[in-house]
Amino acid sequence: MSGSATPPARNAFAAAARVSLVAARAGGVRALRGVLDALLPPHCLLCEAAVDAQGSLCAGCFARLSFVTEPCCARCGVPFPSAGAAGPGVVCPPCADRPPAFETARAALRYDAGSQRLILPFKHGDRTELAAPLARHMARAGAALLARAELLAPVPLHPRRLLARRYNQAALLAAKLARTAGKPHVPDLLRRRRATPPLGEAGAAERASLVAGAFSVSRRGAMARVSGRRVLLVDDVMTSGATAGACAEALLAAGAAAVDVLAAARVPDPRLEAAARRRSGGGGGA
Ligand SMILES: [Zn+2]
Ligand SMILES: [Zn+2]
Repeated sequence: MSGSATPPARNAFAAAARVSLVAARAGGVRALRGVLDALLPPHCLLCEAAVDAQGSLCAGCFARLSFVTEPCCARCGVPFPSAGAAGPGVVCPPCADRPPAFETARAALRYDAGSQRLILPFKHGDRTELAAPLARHMARAGAALLARAELLAPVPLHPRRLLARRYNQAALLAAKLARTAGKPHVPDLLRRRRATPPLGEAGAAERASLVAGAFSVSRRGAMARVSGRRVLLVDDVMTSGATAGACAEALLAAGAAAVDVLAAARVPDPRLEAAARRRSGGGGGA
């Protein structure tokens, strides 16, 4: 016969066991990770090479990334292919012709074959854990923008695309950056009012007209949150800046004081790159 009432001593023992189990769970996570690392040594996020810490890149994969460095456009951050164009406040021809609605944009990586190895699986392949290394590089490249931001918001996906992809990759980056900087993140601050066609080969002016008016500040209390504040808009890949510009226009129309942009990767301007190639490629005669 089994007694339905457990003796008090056994109750106390069970309680103590539960307490120590909880303590072991809380305190032992690090130890457990150590054991797991010993059994399954951490490997690079992109290949099978062994690395020191989980969630990092091996030296080989890291070396394939090119970071956006000076010189770049003071406004939109597009990398200048040669130091000849360098100088404080120098802007690229598109920014000079048609200043964007945002104040300053910066990106961590050049969008090329090296960074595509991180960006494409992150964006299209459910590899959401790649948000962490991307956000780390973004926090470094956009330190000044993060420091002055009062609010972070991602470039929104159209609801149909969000449904298909299940996550907004820009919102994952914005969430990580907001946590790092201790700033508020409003993932639904902006909404995409209409789906925009793939901007693909469209030129800068065409891109701007395709996305004009495509975004608005969402109703849910966002007007009040935006008013008078400096917003940092977060995106994964910035091409011509047309999308970021259209988002910035919507934020400014809703009363934002200013808008900056921080992207994981920036597509270099093909015209600037071609001009640099022409200059260095033998057009240098008298
Ligand atoms: Zn690797
Ligand atoms: Zn520019």
